[in-house]
Amino acid sequence: MDHLLSIEDLDRAAIERICDRAASFSEVADREIKKVPALRGRTVLNLFYESSTRTRSSFELAAKRLSADVVNFAASGSSVEKGESLKDTILTLGAHKPDAIVIRTPWAGSAELVSRWTPAAIVNAGDGKHEHPTQALLDVHTLRSRLGALDGKRIWIVGDVLHSRVARSNILAFQKMGAHVTVAGPPTLIPRGIEALGCDVRFDLRDLPEADVVYALRMQHERMDQAWVPSLREYAAVYQVNGKRLQPHQVLMHPGPVNRGVELSGEVVDSPQAVITAQVEAGVVVRMAVLYEVLAGNRAKDRTPITAAGAPA
Ligand code: ASP
Repeated sequence: MDHLLSIEDLDRAAIERICDRAASFSEVADREIKKVPALRGRTVLNLFYESSTRTRSSFELAAKRLSADVVNFAASGSSVEKGESLKDTILTLGAHKPDAIVIRTPWAGSAELVSRWTPAAIVNAGDGKHEHPTQALLDVHTLRSRLGALDGKRIWIVGDVLHSRVARSNILAFQKMGAHVTVAGPPTLIPRGIEALGCDVRFDLRDLPEADVVYALRMQHERMDQAWVPSLREYAAVYQVNGKRLQPHQVLMHPGPVNRGVELSGEVVDSPQAVITAQVEAGVVVRMAVLYEVLAGNRAKDRTPITAAGAPA
């Protein structure tokens, strides 16, 4: 695998390979010295144009546990604020010769674009509303550890699907693993035509009890330029996953950060059914597996060098 840009590029075998490798890396986290030399001498650049808690810290930790050198670059406080373009930033930071660039931006398609400007392996850590592939992989890994195979499992993704890159990546990944996916939320927050991805659509939670897994999404205020629901209180009255709606047999997931009292009630966040912390833990080992895959995999050695202008030589 050269890059990880989208779940669309992965088949079931590749998802299973990454999750199996992640499982083998979990043992490293239990050691006193939490490090293996797999990526010694490699440089990983974390380039974040959007805020992040879980994704950024876990990519950093993942690279360090594999003994890579890590450069963290946040757009705020950098020359991006002086107007430097994404392309110029990539070409400038290319002087540090990163072997991999982990990139998060508010722009859909940016990870793919960047992969044309640098010989480094690109890992998409979230590109606008488009995709968040490592989130989907860590969610598959969490569910496999909890439930075993996902074949035939019913997974409901509830909430602000419209603004969510997690929803898109997870619909694709869960289906590739054999699960049946339903998305549910207010009509204004469900993209028209999403059924084309193969999922069912519901506008209420009446049939939620049929789900084996309830995956709640955050209301993405930062991507909303108008009122998509009458008020958060009214949204919560109809769509909040709470103690009355969550069934005892269901696993509860959320990608974080949680808006307590909006998409989830506090009681369910703290219930034993919630695997939200396990998802964060899985984030480190899955990102170790992804970095290993793109840097120690087959093509990593013969990447095409590029010229100063960014075109392949
Ligand atoms: N952390 C996830 C993301 O970056 C989900 C969220 O922010 O709601 O997309």
